[in-house]
Amino acid sequence: MFTHSRRNLTWWFTLSMGSILVLFAGAVYYQRVSYQMESIDRLLYKKARVIAANIKYDETAENAESVDLDHTPLLGNTALPTDTEIVYARWYTPTGRLTQFFGPPPSEHLEQGPEFQTVQWPVNAVYQPLSATDTAATTPRQLRQITLPVHHQDQVIGYLQMATSMTSVQESLRQTLIGFVITVPMTLGIIALTGWGLSGLAMRPIRKSYQQLQRFTADASHELRAPLAAILSNAQVGLLAAGDRTSEKDRRLEKIVTATQSMNKLVSQLLLLARHSDDLTAQTRQDVDLKGFLKDLIESDSIQTAAQPITVLTSFPDNPVWVRAEPDLLRQAIANLLSNACKYTPPGGWVKVSLAQGARSAWIAIADNGIGIPAADLPHIFERFYRVDKQRSRATGGLGLGLAIAQQIVQAHGGDIYVSSTLDQGTCFQVELPN
Ligand code: ADP
Repeated sequence: MFTHSRRNLTWWFTLSMGSILVLFAGAVYYQRVSYQMESIDRLLYKKARVIAANIKYDETAENAESVDLDHTPLLGNTALPTDTEIVYARWYTPTGRLTQFFGPPPSEHLEQGPEFQTVQWPVNAVYQPLSATDTAATTPRQLRQITLPVHHQDQVIGYLQMATSMTSVQESLRQTLIGFVITVPMTLGIIALTGWGLSGLAMRPIRKSYQQLQRFTADASHELRAPLAAILSNAQVGLLAAGDRTSEKDRRLEKIVTATQSMNKLVSQLLLLARHSDDLTAQTRQDVDLKGFLKDLIESDSIQTAAQPITVLTSFPDNPVWVRAEPDLLRQAIANLLSNACKYTPPGGWVKVSLAQGARSAWIAIADNGIGIPAADLPHIFERFYRVDKQRSRATGGLGLGLAIAQQIVQAHGGDIYVSSTLDQGTCFQVELPN
């Protein structure tokens, strides 16, 4: 129970801290992308402005498209700067016609788009790798392109289009991403370990007070056993000596015997609950073949007596189904479910016990066509002392502890119990036991 809660706490802690971490990493990455894009755009704009400043416009010419690009870097005769990262530069007239370019041949007309654009390289072309071994060529590159309208006295004299490689930006972002891919899972692992440690610390006082409560219940139940046994034996001796049992005194003695027997049962059940609240250790478990185990249980006197007016059906696989279990405790858990099914099924009905081997667990199902459980009671039936209808439980001698005991035992084995029921139609309890 505590390990389960601790695991849950750790899981939620890791999930919440992990989500914050992933969001934070995402925000940092997004911020880096924006910063890198801004830097490359700023640089590209600066270079485009330098080139545009060198363009000479002939005011005397009649043709509005006559500009002198001869002294313009990249587009003119001026020597190329050696450190340029510019992949191409193009000059288009105000009507969008290409007049001069540097770099690979572009399309004849300007394709209008946003001022800054990320384009695939080669642009508008069927990409042909140079050779099968040329790996760089097989990966189309991305370029950052600027299309800058160049003005002269408020009049557009042409468009300068330039592009620079984004390889360095992409490489830097790739490095950042690799960094995150390595550090985020590592940090998640550290968070999970911290969560496990913290939840252990948080559970310590709860576990302590729970253990104190369990010890008190166990001690009180144990101490009550001796006086109860004395009361019972004295009352039974009194009854034996009585003879025909018709007097008022005898009736009172009979009542004492019945009440003491019921209290004895309650004390034993409380003791059982208090003693087996923790997970079972590996030493206390042994290999149990559920097929033989269930057959023996069904044939036992107590179940045969409870099942007298009804039919018990079975459905078992051909092969044995092995689990690691504490046989006496498991017998108690399954017997509780079986006797409940018999108790709450009217004469003439049936109870079916099935066994199946799942991927990682064995499944025992105990179904009946009895009175069923109302949907509103289903979430509570495993609570201690919970009885659906006190009247019907009292009639069958139920204390409301049978299912709590069964669930605690199955959970101590690392399994769980599931229930489905329809009122007046029947109930099915499914027990999952890990192999
Ligand atoms: P009790 O000892 O009173 O039977 P349990 O803890 O075994 O207590 O069961 C809790 C309640 O669940 C019971 O009061 C009973 O009404 C209901 N219940 C359990 N098993 C069945 C069943 N197979 N069919 C109908 N009701 C059931």
